[in-house]
Amino acid sequence: MAAAAAAAQQAAADVEAALNEADKAAKKQKVCAAASADAVNRLLQALQRARARLLADPGASPQAVLAELQAELAGAELAAGMTGATKELHGAVSKLGKIVDRAFSQDISKAYRADRPLDQRALNQVIAEHLFHEGLFEIGQLFVEEAGVEDGEALRRPYASMHTVLSEIQRHNLAPALEWVREHEAALAGPGGAPSAFEFSIHRLAFLALLKEQGEGAAMAYARQHFGRFQATQMPAIQRLMGALCFAKRAAAGRPSPYADLLAEDLWGNLAREFVRQCCLLLGQAQDSPLLVTVAAGAAALPTLLKLATVISDQSVADLAGVAEQLPLEVPLGQEFVFHSIFACPVSRDQSTADNPPMLLPCGHCICKASIYKIAKAANRAFKCPYCPAECTPKDCRELVFPDMQ
Ligand SMILES: [Zn+2]
Repeated sequence: MAAAAAAAQQAAADVEAALNEADKAAKKQKVCAAASADAVNRLLQALQRARARLLADPGASPQAVLAELQAELAGAELAAGMTGATKELHGAVSKLGKIVDRAFSQDISKAYRADRPLDQRALNQVIAEHLFHEGLFEIGQLFVEEAGVEDGEALRRPYASMHTVLSEIQRHNLAPALEWVREHEAALAGPGGAPSAFEFSIHRLAFLALLKEQGEGAAMAYARQHFGRFQATQMPAIQRLMGALCFAKRAAAGRPSPYADLLAEDLWGNLAREFVRQCCLLLGQAQDSPLLVTVAAGAAALPTLLKLATVISDQSVADLAGVAEQLPLEVPLGQEFVFHSIFACPVSRDQSTADNPPMLLPCGHCICKASIYKIAKAANRAFKCPYCPAECTPKDCRELVFPDMQ
């Protein structure tokens, strides 16, 4: 799923950045250790030379030898070399610490609303459903038993049959998928009872797989047997598949073919994803696990929420959110988390609701109902569109309905 992928990508980037810094710190540590060892060695050698001179010449003045030694050590600036390397090491270590703190050791409880008790029962159900949705039946069953989830069987059953067919698709066996299509023929059928597009995509995959593995003869026979029913609805796709048939030898020889994309695509993976989509659609379930989407959206929103929590105290975040039933700031999550159309009135900046729907003015501009009445003051009173010189009355305006907002 895109959201989870984005979160995973961010986590991977954080780990990568931390590893880079750790690498730098390790290098600085080596330089620092080498500088220290070098300084200690040079000190040792100077001392050994001084001692050798005293031993070799019993008449030598110890004071003179010591004074010479002191002068030599002062000139060598041993301490300076060690201090410089140590400073660089400390710099690298503190930078690494900051990166780790920023990416990994956030106290995320600051973004958590403590004023509402967690609904453990609902959470357990969502977790159980997630496990079944992902096909993790053994763990899911164990979780249902241990957490005492009610209706565990009802949660499991629809996904069990979905995953039976899915695992067969993954083993390149299309028979159970076609069986599933036959079972749900009425629900899947297109307009006027036409055979479903999903059924065609199964036959299309079977055709392309045969073409790849057994050659034109087998593919042609399959096409004759199965494509006839789809002539009315899938003609352009069938024509392309027939084109691919003619170019199969060229493509197999590695020569350019206008149909190379058909043979190059991830046929089985695409069909598996489409099957899950169709199946979830019939089940009335989301294609992506709701738990996964929630966690991914939460992870994407977390930096903003934490920043907000540092600006105002925990209690006031909860208060603000509690009063308005929404956060005091917008948290842009990205296109992948937009599930339906949103209308925000360009005049009041409010998001439309059932009581305050978007309205179409006769001039073609669109503002929310509350804004219209605020400007016009009465249903029969003419007002000027805020965006063009046209005039109309609130009675001339029509409510706009987005199909997915119903
Ligand atoms: Zn207008």
